[in-house]
Amino acid sequence: MIKPNMHYADLKDSYLFYRIAQKTKSYLKEHPDQYLYRMGIGDVSLPLCGAVIEALHNAVDDQADRNRFHGYMPECGDPSLRAVIADYYRKRGVRISDDEVFISSGASDELGDILDLFDAGSSALVMEPAYPAYVDANKIAGRTIVHLPSGENNSFLPEPEEDAKADIIYLCSPNNPTGAVFSKDQLRRWVDFANKNGSVILFDAAYEAFIEDDSLPHSIFEIEGAETCAIEICSLSKTAGFTGTRLGYTVIPKSLSRCGMRFNDMWVRNRTTKTNGVSYIIQRGGAAVFTEEGQRQIHENIRIYKDNARMLMDALDQLGIWYCGGKNAPYIWLKCPNGMGSWEFFDLLLQKIQVVGTPGEGFGACGEGFFRFSTFASQEDTKEAAKRLMNLFG
Ligand code: PLP
Repeated sequence: MIKPNMHYADLKDSYLFYRIAQKTKSYLKEHPDQYLYRMGIGDVSLPLCGAVIEALHNAVDDQADRNRFHGYMPECGDPSLRAVIADYYRKRGVRISDDEVFISSGASDELGDILDLFDAGSSALVMEPAYPAYVDANKIAGRTIVHLPSGENNSFLPEPEEDAKADIIYLCSPNNPTGAVFSKDQLRRWVDFANKNGSVILFDAAYEAFIEDDSLPHSIFEIEGAETCAIEICSLSKTAGFTGTRLGYTVIPKSLSRCGMRFNDMWVRNRTTKTNGVSYIIQRGGAAVFTEEGQRQIHENIRIYKDNARMLMDALDQLGIWYCGGKNAPYIWLKCPNGMGSWEFFDLLLQKIQVVGTPGEGFGACGEGFFRFSTFASQEDTKEAAKRLMNLFG
């Protein structure tokens, strides 16, 4: 009999968002007339910007024309999109070449697929609280997870511990769920640690476009030495509303190698084996994000999400509730008032004010007692949620 991958049995039964969906569903069943203010969602509420829509339409027309039609796309990405993204990095002072950029169908796919580059026996260190996919993707592959908890004491930005042993290191900055962002000095310590130990950092920069503080790094490659120890994974999902359109990119420097194997070459080999490239139409839409007009338009949308963050942060400030994030990230991470547990606070908000957030415990044990608000809901809903919070705790 075929033996299945038994590591699936090691996954937790109830995925965080599944449990939230079950709870909200049963609440609505009991209270069919109630409307829920969903501050838990990690999905965007604004549509794609005009520049992207125009590029998508034009690309669809290309596909209808015998002379402009595109079939299979290059496995590692359309060369013109790879060039545009390399240029986006260059404008921020990071020198990468076009063939160090790989186009993907999004960060989630890539975070799972990229593990093909590492030995099955390697261990993975995950700074927590963390986006749940890091742990699960490694558990499916049977890897040992080294949990690195963080907390209020280090502002949810953990430092490497000298005696920690890990081959793969997950760092996410700006962080989901805490909204915390590593400074250049803090990232440098991780880069030095990884180079010293021969580890590889998987740097999730899905929220880099939300950084507004000029001193904070958008990319790990702003740190000297990162080119010999890091891979960066990015997404247009939150930056440009591509959650349903699907496009991301990954940077693998050519100088990153271990045991005489270059990860960039290995990833070319992997992509040419496992994909036939991302759709031509979607890549055209993605390229429009990096035009001057596209950048202006996506930052207009990001501004709207930032206004949502402001409304929630103002309410928390007035209530004296501790939180971090919100300024350079689309998430606000707050301490549940009155010593409440995450799920207890979730139930209270759902039952009393019909506001839905995400219990911190779902992002790792050290998230217990904390709670995440997303700023991606509509402005109207966010305003009402902030008002209801004020009424409940004010
Ligand atoms: N990385 C982080 C930290 C995320 O929060 C998300 C989505 O919420 C992703 C990756 C996945 O992004 P994508 O939509 O590109 O798969």
